[in-house]
Amino acid sequence: MIESGTTGTRLFLSGRVLTLACAPVTGATLDFWQADARGVYDNSGYRLRGHQLTDDGGRYSLETIVPGEYPGRTEHIHVKVQAPGKTVLTTQLYFPGVARNQQDSIFDAHLLLTVQDTAAGKVAIFDFVTSG
Ligand code: FE
Repeated sequence: MIESGTTGTRLFLSGRVLTLACAPVTGATLDFWQADARGVYDNSGYRLRGHQLTDDGGRYSLETIVPGEYPGRTEHIHVKVQAPGKTVLTTQLYFPGVARNQQDSIFDAHLLLTVQDTAAGKVAIFDFVTSG
């Protein structure tokens, strides 16, 4: 979701979409959207919004930035996940070690990314499990 003019800490997010039996889901749709580094959404265009499909290993890969906080909310990325022919799961992903997590009433520790800091930015992993 990096475009010209996108500033902030780079975030390389990847993972898989899996069934309850841990089988990879091919062709699942992931639709991501988030605030920019200052906590502002693009509500007139599609900056920092985008979708993709998982590959035959159920894998997805997203290059973006770490979103900023905005009033009432800690850092988070919104995502809708849909396995082919199944219902849409709408959820959010969170960042470990962010002080504001504890003041955000809808924060959920089950939705924390696994994050490593690297010279190029943050590298994060999250696997989604779909029940159908
Ligand atoms: Fe939000």
